[in-house]
Amino acid sequence: SQENHYRVRFAPSPTGHVHLGSARTALYDYLIAKQTQGQFILRIEDTDRKRLVEGAEEELMNSMRWLGIDWDEGPDKGGPYGPYRQSERKEIYQKFAHELIEKDMAYYCFCSSERLSKVRQEKQKDKQLPHYDGFCRNLNKAEAEERVKNGEPHVIRFKSPKQGTTVVHDLLRGDIVFENANLDDFILVKSDGWALYHLAAIVDDYLMKVTHVIRGSEWLPTSPLHSLIWQAFGWKEPVWVHLSVFLKPSGKGKMSKREAADLSNDGYSIFIKDLEDLGYLPEAVINWVALMGWSYDDHTEFFTLDDLVEKFSLEKLNPSPA
Ligand code: GLU
Repeated sequence: SQENHYRVRFAPSPTGHVHLGSARTALYDYLIAKQTQGQFILRIEDTDRKRLVEGAEEELMNSMRWLGIDWDEGPDKGGPYGPYRQSERKEIYQKFAHELIEKDMAYYCFCSSERLSKVRQEKQKDKQLPHYDGFCRNLNKAEAEERVKNGEPHVIRFKSPKQGTTVVHDLLRGDIVFENANLDDFILVKSDGWALYHLAAIVDDYLMKVTHVIRGSEWLPTSPLHSLIWQAFGWKEPVWVHLSVFLKPSGKGKMSKREAADLSNDGYSIFIKDLEDLGYLPEAVINWVALMGWSYDDHTEFFTLDDLVEKFSLEKLNPSPA
């Protein structure tokens, strides 16, 4: 059935270089898609217009093609495909944000940035969560609509539950329980009309029929928010898989997209384009990346991409830092 063909997406933000960590996520996505005769989608998450780095998207596509992890579809017909780009889908996210307002699961917020930073500072002083105090949460809806119509600057916030818990089920980690009292009424749409990643990614995962979300564990803290948005729309959540982060050998800090490669030093924070320039073979890089967090047996030392498609399994991934 359709259900057994996994649809997965690699959804990077074009904010820096492609390092081994991002290549690993893309590779795992690719492998389970191929293994199940499903589809592997590339989606550029570029709604945060201030963080865009020029040339990052191109480098990303070059690195993926060099590695041999090509994607299966895109917004245009026929191949070779371009990626989906969230910057081309602004109205779609706005439409869904308004649907949440209608359902009373989201609201307009008119708080000024001065007010917000004051509230945040006070909360942080007492180490209190959430950081927003919900000032606009119970505004009269008709009045709020009126203020929007009159052009008053606003954002759209999610109405997070204040009681109980949200449980995210992760394939590698089991149930992870979050206290709702700590959750912020996070922003879905900013005052410039652009959706935040949190909303855009979920709307897209839904519309693109993504069955498995595979990403780094740095996304665990926000996973309850994501789960809640899925639930607010009444949609069935995908399978969540949060991979281990890559740590530098010192164990301090995860690999970053902005730090330059320093192969002489700790060998981490390694960018794919540098490996290409240094004359590494893509097969060797694929093999290296595959084995960071996954193992098959203790004697096979080299896997081709085809071997990996056959042998890889999500269940065998190790959730602790690599
Ligand atoms: N755009 C996010 C990133 O750059 C994607 C996170 C996700 O896969 O949901 O890591």
